[in-house]
Amino acid sequence: MADFDFDLFVIGAGSGGVRTARMAAAKGVRVAITEDLYLGGTCVNVGCVPKKLFVYSSHYAHDFQEAKGFGWNVGETSFDWPTLRDNKTKEIERLNGIYKNMLVNAGCTLMTGRGVMIDAHTVEVNGEQYTAERILVATGGWPFVPDFPGKEHVISSNEVFFLEQFPKRAVVVGGGYIAVEFAGIFAGLGAKTDLIYRGELFLRGFDQEVREFTAREVAKKQVNLNFNCDITSIDKQADGSLLITTNDGRTIEADCVMYATGRNPKVANLGLEALGIKQAANGAIVVDDNFQSSVPSVYALGDVIDRIALTPVALAEGMALVNHLYNEGSAEVNYDLIATAVFCQPNIGTVGLSEEQAREQYANIDVYVSDFRAMKHTLSGSDERTLMKMIVDKASDKVVGVHMVGSEAGEIIQGIAIALKAGATKAVFDSTIGVHPTAAEEFVTMRTPTRS
Ligand code: NDP
Repeated sequence: MADFDFDLFVIGAGSGGVRTARMAAAKGVRVAITEDLYLGGTCVNVGCVPKKLFVYSSHYAHDFQEAKGFGWNVGETSFDWPTLRDNKTKEIERLNGIYKNMLVNAGCTLMTGRGVMIDAHTVEVNGEQYTAERILVATGGWPFVPDFPGKEHVISSNEVFFLEQFPKRAVVVGGGYIAVEFAGIFAGLGAKTDLIYRGELFLRGFDQEVREFTAREVAKKQVNLNFNCDITSIDKQADGSLLITTNDGRTIEADCVMYATGRNPKVANLGLEALGIKQAANGAIVVDDNFQSSVPSVYALGDVIDRIALTPVALAEGMALVNHLYNEGSAEVNYDLIATAVFCQPNIGTVGLSEEQAREQYANIDVYVSDFRAMKHTLSGSDERTLMKMIVDKASDKVVGVHMVGSEAGEIIQGIAIALKAGATKAVFDSTIGVHPTAAEEFVTMRTPTRS
């Protein structure tokens, strides 16, 4: 048995890497972890956490407007971007510190610098070489921006959290989670906002009715939706503003253009090619059910394997890997029924199959749909509506998909996901007594199918 410096060397201290390192160290494994950017990775620094803080901030615009109907005179309001940006940064720095303490207190050797694999058991960091029985690559992903004239003028979700000035006019390009969420943030914080998406309707892959409903609601919140549209070029004008030309021959002026056109696995300069580690066409590290790459001592998980790019998935993968390597258990992760939320305004919460997927997989389904104005908005004056939708396999009575667009959908869907994981039937939902008065009680009072 070779004498290694470490049992496990983790490259990348994001959600997946940190969780794996900590859990392994807690089992007495000698762990090193290196990070060349920021502790906590995308989620903590330029993703989920700061995004959610911005979403909270952007909601106040609507809350102030809606307060009137409840008797409040809010008076004049104004928004100060540097306050939000810098308070957010302070909070993220606090979290970076917590991550550092968690790793060090768990007994991990924490390094700052890029980790490059030299051979199947050696990682180089800042010119020093370390050997390890196993290496884990958990380097995450990186925003992808397509090539076009003027690309140098745009930002991605990496930069949006640190803008010097808040734009008066913002354009967001893309139709996925990040684009829809940031369109809501920009609009809520007062920017004149355009969303540009190349297809017919954004949020491809989500339930069609949810997509259509969301488009109507997002448009009500002052996001100008440009579908079937793409940017062909961007020119910087003398006053510093950006002139966007689209493929339908229009021009749009903006102060900030943010591309949210997907993320690619972050695999450059890791030594993957030299080791002959198998990669997919987009660079993702190919791993088996045990997160093992084509080089047996090298493992990978999280966004860099491009399965499901969600923090809780990377955490689950990390815990499964530790269980497999150091508990001799299984590394199997059950990717079924993963609930997700899109923090657009209102939120989307979803778990299980879309109606379209359910029609493909089951011979007979019942679809229950409720589209209503939430009680709050009887006084708020807002024309926001809520959509709730449940899809049931008729043969087994099992609920196979639940979707919501509405306030707190992200919070509500977590509980529904547990029910679906437990195999709840429609009869179980029906026998559950509602929490009154809530929007969520609608999920246990949908009696008549809208269609079959
Ligand atoms: P997504 O993959 O979700 O969406 C990318 C979007 O960009 C799609 O609408 C896609 O269009 C469009 N696109 C891709 N390439 C081009 C191109 N060349 N020109 C124009 N449009 C293009 O990526 P995001 O960047 O939004 O997010 C990355 C991932 O991060 C998500 O998939 C999700 O897993 C995760 N995430 C999760 C969040 C959450 O849980 N709340 C929040 C943010 C991110 P098309 O559909 O036509 O292919």
